[in-house]
Order: sequence, then C-alpha cells, then structure tokens
Amino acid sequence: VDTKEFIKQKLREYYDKKGVVPPFEFDRREFGFGNDKKIDYRHFAFNTEAQLRQYFVTNVPLYASYSAAYYDFPEARPMEKKVFRGADLIFEFDADCDHDNIACSKCLDVAKQQSIRLIDDFLIPDFGFDRKEILVSFSGNRGYHIHVRSDSARQLNANARKQVADYIRGEGFTLAEHAKLDMTGWQGRIARDLYGIIEKGDAKALAAEGTTKPYAEKLFANKEYMLQNIRKGNWDVQQSFMRIRDKLAANRLLKLRLPIDSGVTMDISRLIRMPTTIHGGSSLLCCLVEKLDDFDPFVDAVVFTDRKIGVKPTKAIKQFSLREQTFGPFVEGVATELPEHAAMLMICKGAAVPA
Ligand SMILES: [Zn+2]
Repeated sequence: VDTKEFIKQKLREYYDKKGVVPPFEFDRREFGFGNDKKIDYRHFAFNTEAQLRQYFVTNVPLYASYSAAYYDFPEARPMEKKVFRGADLIFEFDADCDHDNIACSKCLDVAKQQSIRLIDDFLIPDFGFDRKEILVSFSGNRGYHIHVRSDSARQLNANARKQVADYIRGEGFTLAEHAKLDMTGWQGRIARDLYGIIEKGDAKALAAEGTTKPYAEKLFANKEYMLQNIRKGNWDVQQSFMRIRDKLAANRLLKLRLPIDSGVTMDISRLIRMPTTIHGGSSLLCCLVEKLDDFDPFVDAVVFTDRKIGVKPTKAIKQFSLREQTFGPFVEGVATELPEHAAMLMICKGAAVPA
C-alpha cells in the first residue's frame, strides 16, 4: 500500500463521517491546502459551506489552512486584488521538541502554558481584549494558535501588529524612574515583581538575578523602609540599590516576557491551520480548545478508532502514550497490530508504514 494513499483514505473516511466546520466568515477567507508541504496551493475560496465540506471529501488535503484576513475577493490574485478588509490578530506557540518522542506532552505543555500567559497576562489586562474575543486552537501537531477576533484587532496594520508583538516580547523596555506597583502593563508588572523579591527577602533569588549574596543581605537589613518607599514610587532610598535596579529589572523581564514570533503576528496575509481538520503530519485534530487548562492533545485531539490495524515501524520508536494508554517501544521492521489511532500517529509522523 502507498503510505500517502493510505493516510488519505483514512482522512477521507473521517471527513465523510464527521465533516469540517467552516471558520467564521469563511466566504471572505482565502484557503490553502497541502499534500507534500503545509501549503502547496493557495488562493482558494468557497461560497457555500457545502462546497467547503465537499472539498475535503473529494480532495482530502493532508494540511488545510485559511487566512487570518478577510477579503472582498479571497480567490483573486495577486494579493492586492483580493481587497483586504482586516484580519484576526494571530499568535503562535510551537513546541521545540528534541526528545525523540512522537507524542511529547512535555513540550506541548510548555506551549500551552505560554498560551495561557499570553491571554491572562497580556491580551486581557494590557490590551483590554475580552475573553470572548480570544480563540485558542491546538494546531494538530506542535503547538497552539491564539486568534483575537475583535473589531479593534481586525483593523491593525502590519506595523501595529509588530508593535503588539514587540511589546509582549518586552522589546525596548526600561523601568520608569518612579515606577509604581499599580501601573498597568510592563511598568507595574516589573515593579511588583521586584517588590516581591525584596518583600520575600530572598537573598538567594536576588543573587541569582545578578547581584552578590552578601550585598543582598545588606540590602534586606533595611527592607521595611525600602518597601514603604517603593510603594510610593521612590526607589532611590538606597543609592546602591538604584545602581542594580535596572539590571535586575532586565533580568526579570527575560523571565516574564513571551518569546512570540513577531513575523507570524505581523503577517496579515498569513494562512493558519483550520480547526476541525486533521493534521496529516500527526493524525491529530486541529481543534478549538474551550478550557486550555484541561486540554490534553494526546487525548482530546485523537480522532481515530481503537480498531486494531497492522503497522510496521520504519525506525525505532520510543514508548509513547495516547488516550491514556501506553504503546511501545517498537523495533524497526517488526510489524505489529495496534489501535488505529496509535498506528495512524506513527504512520503520519513518518515512523511507520501500514502492514
Ligand atoms: Zn519534547
């Protein structure tokens, strides 16, 4: 059996049964599809939901994406002819995994925690977006996508989006001379963080942030008086602290910032993976996530059945877990029978072939 044809057949069965859910305002979006690369062809558009659904059953793309942007003529080319009417604001967190595990929950969990922080620490408090305007999707493979769908976000041009990204990355930040704890954004966040370090009197933590332990201890001898003044925005009661304050702030910023990809966020013609479609490189479902805290991609995004099928590893595969069941390890070349969902993961990851 040709492996790609086998995968397509499985996806066809899935789309035939379950179908896809067209994204919001789908008829103003550009679509892109891929079988070899993530996007082999783009500039597709659909006028009706039925057409879009039918496309998946007929063509069974291994990768399906749609534009963050809204257009008057989404299928027109070149891009200028589409007539841009705004775009959702997009953030991506991809897991950088080198654990040689085809289902690495550890790395995906890092991306999940970053997504949670983006929403709770930045998008809602600093930018004032409403939780209802923020959608999170599991990409189906390596990470999470955050879509902000609001009137104010929609109108931002590429440069404004870059500024949003730079802000979240903490670019160019310096703590104001009289920064106060109740300030919004980075000023308050860093001020509260430094205050917390002094308040805890944690010499070790302070030492780890770029100052010597004996110095930290000396500093804390005067703690209460310092805290009192910092609450009023007077950081300079102790001259020697002022000399390290900004260095300390810069170190803490590195911990609290989010390393988002500015290129993704500022790209207003970007195509992003379409929720409710299967990722052909993993067999997992790209899906909207309602409760990020509770979401487990290796349970909740698994769509294939428990029915056993034959599979032959084309390389050694370490033990992995899917739907709370453990599989493997597997030896290269030794065929075995596995639940369809585990076999599909191995096959789509390029680690096995149907047998
Ligand atoms: Zn990993």
